Amino acid sequence: SSDLSTAEIDRKFVFHPFTMLADHERSGPPVVITQGKGAVLTDERGIDYVDAMAGLWCVNVGYGRSEIADALRDQANQLSYCHAFSSMSSDKPALLAQRLIDMAPAGMSKVFFGNSGSDANDTQVKLVWYYNNALGRPQKKKIIARQRGYHGVTIMTAGLTGLPGLHAGFDLPLPMVRHTTAPRRLWEGHGLTDAEFTAKLVADLEELIAREGADTIGAMIMEPVMGAGGVIAPPEGYYAAMRDVLRRHDILLIADEVICGFGRLGAMFGSELLDMQPDMITVAKGLTSAYFPLSACIVGQKVWDVLSGAGSQFGAFGHGYTYSSHPLGAAAALANLDLIDKENMLARVADEGAHMQAALRAAFADHPLVGEVRGQALIGAVEFVKEVRDTGPVAFDPALKVAARIVKGALDRGVIGRALPSADTVAFSPPFVIQREEIDRSVAAFRDAADQVLAELRG
Ligand code: PLP
Repeated sequence: SSDLSTAEIDRKFVFHPFTMLADHERSGPPVVITQGKGAVLTDERGIDYVDAMAGLWCVNVGYGRSEIADALRDQANQLSYCHAFSSMSSDKPALLAQRLIDMAPAGMSKVFFGNSGSDANDTQVKLVWYYNNALGRPQKKKIIARQRGYHGVTIMTAGLTGLPGLHAGFDLPLPMVRHTTAPRRLWEGHGLTDAEFTAKLVADLEELIAREGADTIGAMIMEPVMGAGGVIAPPEGYYAAMRDVLRRHDILLIADEVICGFGRLGAMFGSELLDMQPDMITVAKGLTSAYFPLSACIVGQKVWDVLSGAGSQFGAFGHGYTYSSHPLGAAAALANLDLIDKENMLARVADEGAHMQAALRAAFADHPLVGEVRGQALIGAVEFVKEVRDTGPVAFDPALKVAARIVKGALDRGVIGRALPSADTVAFSPPFVIQREEIDRSVAAFRDAADQVLAELRG
């Protein structure tokens, strides 16, 4: 089989995440990427693509950063691995934890490292359960998430994820998961003012808590700005009001900062920017800019006091991964955070983000296929709908695959975007180092691709 191409070997031996397995044998060859630099990927044919998604919202400081590569190499040469069980430790994870607590919103106390956003959110749920068991209220275990929220794919977190496509075929969500309304203005908030929409969302939460009983609910998890669910920022006043309800019912708040953390919104933490005041924070992706799989649960003092105060009632804390506190991941994260600081990337995200938002609105706000252009700083989305009536939007027939066709059209024009699950929405989340000209080229490619699909639909 040595004369097979990479694409042929891939088709023969790999089955891909989030891919129609029914089409596996018939689908065309994958694009085989061989190199990355800055915001640009190159395939094996030598064709360049602007990666307007930073991989999966993660390669924030850009591809090919020798500073991080060198940190990984140096760490691998010096100490390639050290477990963190019992009394073992090494310098990089300790320094990283200190740095995270220094950076994080007030009240954070301790850091627990994992490997991915999914396992970190899974750990957060276990911490909530442990917390309530330690407090002697074992029935307070349900976790509230939001429709359209994305929190991972483990058995617990796939259920928390409020996208039916991630439940299908897996008998999920687990019974202790509940969902409440997404703060999605175009659909759930159509025709409402910010104040009215916030009031409706808060009333939905209150009603859910009343129905279930507050004494059965342990926590609520929310992304500051939803990513995969459609790049959805809440209306004015939302977090202050939601937080009040949660506090009143003694329900912990987990901020899932897997996408928003480390600068995507132009601030280090989305929860700080939007004043969420969470009890626990999950980070991954941008923590290392995806140079190494690393995640962290950042736990607030209130939770830590209970966990540590559980004393010996459960024996030793029975949770951890072989790769918790991996020195290579921590070295990559420290080098990544150094780059964000040294290159003043938060200011860059604000400037280039303002440009990207203006360019997206200029290109799409009045386009006949477009229902809404949204986002802030360097995260954005364009939602395509058939029409917006006075009564609300009307979706395209999913069989038309409008967003997927536009993404394919942009790829043919040298730009990588992402069609989000179960909505005709295209997302943009480029590396922070993207050049202005690359932003303009990306928006133009998507506009041309949308025009082409429009012409086909009007055929
Ligand atoms: N949480 C959010 C907000 C995410 O966007 C993602 C991944 O896209 C996850 C959790 C899961 O992270 P991972 O894919 O690293 O398991």
